[in-house]
Amino acid sequence: MTVTRSGPLPGTGTDPGRPPYDVTVVGAGVVGCAVARELARHRLKVALVDASGDVGDGTSKANTAILHTGFDAVPGSLEARLVRDGQRRLLAYAVETGIPVETVGALLVAWDEEQLAALPKLAAKAERNAYHETRCVGAAELKELEPRLGPGARGALSVPGEAIVCPWTTTLAFATQAVRSGVDLHLDCRVEKVRQGDPHRLVTPRGVLRTRHLVNAAGLHADALDALLGHHDFTVTPRRGQLIVYDKFARSLVRHILLPVPGRLGKGVLVAPTVYGNVLLGPTAEDLDDKTATGSTAEGLASLRAQGRRILPELVEEEVTAVYAGLRAATGQDDYRITAHPGQRYVTVGGIRSTGLTASLAIAAHVVGLLADGGLELGPERALAPVRMPNLGEAFPRPYEDAGLIARDPAYGRLVCHCERVSRGEIRDALASTIPPATLDGLRRRTRARGGRCQGFACGAAVRAQFEEAQG
Ligand SMILES: Cc1cc2nc3c(=O)[nH]c(=O)nc-3n(C[C@H](O)[C@H](O)[C@H](O)COP(=O)(O)OP(=O)(O)OC[C@H]3O[C@@H](n4cnc5c(N)ncnc54)[C@H](O)[C@@H]3O)c2cc1C
Repeated sequence: MTVTRSGPLPGTGTDPGRPPYDVTVVGAGVVGCAVARELARHRLKVALVDASGDVGDGTSKANTAILHTGFDAVPGSLEARLVRDGQRRLLAYAVETGIPVETVGALLVAWDEEQLAALPKLAAKAERNAYHETRCVGAAELKELEPRLGPGARGALSVPGEAIVCPWTTTLAFATQAVRSGVDLHLDCRVEKVRQGDPHRLVTPRGVLRTRHLVNAAGLHADALDALLGHHDFTVTPRRGQLIVYDKFARSLVRHILLPVPGRLGKGVLVAPTVYGNVLLGPTAEDLDDKTATGSTAEGLASLRAQGRRILPELVEEEVTAVYAGLRAATGQDDYRITAHPGQRYVTVGGIRSTGLTASLAIAAHVVGLLADGGLELGPERALAPVRMPNLGEAFPRPYEDAGLIARDPAYGRLVCHCERVSRGEIRDALASTIPPATLDGLRRRTRARGGRCQGFACGAAVRAQFEEAQG
C-alpha cells in the first residue's frame, strides 16, 4: 500500500526506470477518490494525487451532507441520471462499508400561495426524474410531521427517500479501498504543469509523474487544469455556501430535512439533521472570485439566522457548535461538465457543483467507461479489497457503548473527547489507519474528536498529545 506525503514521487529521483502509471487521477475529493476506487477493480497502475495533505480536504469536507434522490434535478440531464444512479450505489455501499446514512426523508415546505402552487409541479418533475414517491401534504398533517415548524407553513411536498450521510467517511472509504486495492495515493502533490505526450508528464514540486491516461477531478480548479491541457470550455466560479451547526440539544426539534421550495428568489436555505446528531442551517449562495474564500461572514450568518427563525423559530435560540463554508464549483451551466478527450487520453470531470457527494460512485463508473472508450485497456475485473469504516453516526452503535468491545480492549472505554464521546482506542485506530490524518482537523473528520460543543476546549491538549505521540 502506497500513501506518500513527501519525498520524490515513484518514477522520479532515485527511481527513474519505473514504467508510467496507466491512469492518474488529479484531485482526491469525493469524486476523484471514487474514480480511483473504480479503476482499482482492474489490473492497472493507478495514481491518485492531491495538492492537499489529506483526501477530501476541499469542497468534499464542507457540504450539507444530503444523499439526494435527484427528484428535483433537470430532467434528462447527465446530472439527473448520475445522481439517481449514484444514490442507489452509495446507499448499498454505505451498508457494506459502515458509512452512516439515515433516510429521514425531506419536506419541501411552502410558506405562501406561490410556493404551494409550485408543489404539484415539483412532484411532476420528480416523476420525470423517475422518482415516484413524492406526496403533497396539507398544513394540518405537516404540523403533525414537524410540530416545531414556524407559523404560516401552508403545506409541503414529502420526499421520503432523501437521506443524510457522513461525507467524511464516504470520501475516506473510497480512498482507503482504492489504496488497499493497489492505487498509489500521493498527497501534498500539486500538479503545476502538464507536458502532453505518451506518457503525459505531470510536473509537481515532488518530481515529474508520468501517466498514459489522465483524469481531471480537480474540483474548483478543474478549469485551470483543463487549460493546461489546452481546453477553455468552462470557468469555475466558486459559489460559497455558509452553514451553521447547532448543538445536539437542537436535534429533537426537527425530524426531516426541511427544504425550501425553489423560486424567484433563489434556492433558499434548509434545515437538516446531521448523522452526528446536530442540526444544520444553510447554505447561503454567494458567487465569488476567490477560490479560497471559505470563511464565514457576519452578513451571511445573520441572513441564515433570519431565514432559520421563520422555518424553525426555536432552532435559532439553541447554541451554535460551529460555522463553516464550502465552495460549489459553479460553471454557469445547469449540468456537470464531464468531457472525454480521447485523442489526449484525458477526461475532464468538471462542474460537479452541488450533488457530487451523492453522484460520486455513478460519476466514477461513467468516467471509467469514458476512459475505456478512449482506449484504456481495462482487462478483467477483480474484487476490491474489503473495507469496514469506523462508525461516526449517532444512530448506530459507537465503541463507548459496546461493553464487550471495551472488555476486550479497554482503550475503547477511555473517553478523550467527552462532547462527542470519542475514545482513545478510536483515535489510536485512526492514527494507524491506511490513510492516517496529517492534521488534527483530519483526525476530527475520522473520529469526531474536537468536533463537539466545546470545539476542543476540554480535550484539545489530550487529542494533540496522542496525535503527536503517533507522529513520533
Ligand atoms: C455548501 C455546499 C453544500 C453541498 N451539499 C451537498 C449535498 O448535500 N449533497 C451532495 O451530494 N453534494 C453536495 N455538495 C456538493 C459536493 O460537496 C461536491 O459536488 C463534491 O464535494 C465535489 O467533489 P470533488 O471531488 O469534485 O471536488 P473537491 O472535493 O473540491 O476535490 C478536488 C480536489 O482537487 C485538488 N486539486 C485541485 N487542483 C489540483 C492540482 N492542480 N493538483 C492536485 N490536486 C488538485 C484539491 O486539493 C481538492 O482536494 C455541496 C457543496 C457545497 C459547497
